[in-house]
Amino acid sequence: MSPDAQPTEISLTEQKQLLITWSDGEQREYSIRQLRDECPCAHCNAARQNPKPKPMLLVIDPRETAPLRISSLRPVGNYAYAIDFSDGHNSGIFTIEQLRGLGRVVE
Ligand SMILES: [Zn+2]
Repeated sequence: MSPDAQPTEISLTEQKQLLITWSDGEQREYSIRQLRDECPCAHCNAARQNPKPKPMLLVIDPRETAPLRISSLRPVGNYAYAIDFSDGHNSGIFTIEQLRGLGRVVE
């Protein structure tokens, strides 16, 4: 696997997973939930380091039960992609290196 691989094609699969084809021919599939959980923005980093105590009363935000989607994905310079999630969260900038380490290789 080449550390310099770049995305050459980005699409969504029928199961609404993100599919990235890389310049070295590798294809990786990403669940939107995984990407959301790995969101590298400062807010999510802080939340991962200090998980909230479990509330006694569970209140479910309807946005959390709706299937999570990607609303948009746009390049940031030539090193990263900004992902806008359907839950309204859009501050995550995923570097190409990070994307390369996530997901699973499609055989
Ligand atoms: Zn975030």
